[in-house]
Amino acid sequence: MSLLSIRNLGLRRDGLWTLRGVSFEVEPGQAWGIVGESGAGKSTLMNLVLGLLEPDEGEVRLEGEAWSGLPEKSRRPRRPLLQAVFQDPIASLPPHMTGWEILEEPLVIHRRGGAKARREAAARMAERVKFPVPSLDQVPGRWSGGLAQRLAVARALMLDPKLLLLDEPLSALDPTLAGHLLELLLEFKADGTALIFVSHDLLAVRRLCDKLLVLYGGEPMCLGGTEPMLADLRHPYLRGLWEAVPDLSRPGAPRRWGVDRSRKLAPGGCLLMDRCPKASEACGVAPEMGLRERCHHPFKG
Ligand code: SF4
Repeated sequence: MSLLSIRNLGLRRDGLWTLRGVSFEVEPGQAWGIVGESGAGKSTLMNLVLGLLEPDEGEVRLEGEAWSGLPEKSRRPRRPLLQAVFQDPIASLPPHMTGWEILEEPLVIHRRGGAKARREAAARMAERVKFPVPSLDQVPGRWSGGLAQRLAVARALMLDPKLLLLDEPLSALDPTLAGHLLELLLEFKADGTALIFVSHDLLAVRRLCDKLLVLYGGEPMCLGGTEPMLADLRHPYLRGLWEAVPDLSRPGAPRRWGVDRSRKLAPGGCLLMDRCPKASEACGVAPEMGLRERCHHPFKG
């Protein structure tokens, strides 16, 4: 039984599908990278998994049981199983609470342990994420972005979740701090925590994630093992994203994919038709998902 099953998930807004046809399974200890440009549907997918949005199509199942579509009251006992870390660490933390209070709050809400046990658990978790214990007396406004992100991760882990969802967790951090957080996430993954890692950063995804889902315009374009996909860039869009990764050893500007006008110009066809260097008449019919990608003309070899 999978930890999380996402089946044909779809959400419509103002008559347009903002997410459609997304299916994958998350196993314990597995990390999924969700990649795509802004507006690709990454955060929508995260909010559907968290139950902050309800799908118009398909379903989410947690440990084999229904999760989406349930009233919050029925979901509450299983809420500790999945926790989230958001993009802007300082904005996502309560500004008037001290670090101690922030870490202890999930335990208070879910009635775990007495005051002494909660304090000890908070101290242990701070140590685990390398957050300096003296700074737990302060409120988030006193911390750097890196420290705040560590505390946000620590808070998400206080209930010992089986799945941690992270929405662009590295974007507010400088490269050194981003590297530290990545190492920390690798440790948690090795300890059996499953991850859904939403990111623009393909290099970080390659380091952390076993599986990769590439979204474009709310639809899956590539789905499968991260390493096989990045070692053999068959899909034109994934190849374009990879070529846009800054690489100091590769001179010249990255190839640009132009403006996204897909929704207007490709009704019924591949959403990438207007931007793709390999587009042909055949792309006027939307491709089916193949072994790892949806494309009529993937690159070969
Ligand atoms: S189906 Fe056509 S337009 Fe879409 S990615 Fe493949 S080649 Fe490009």
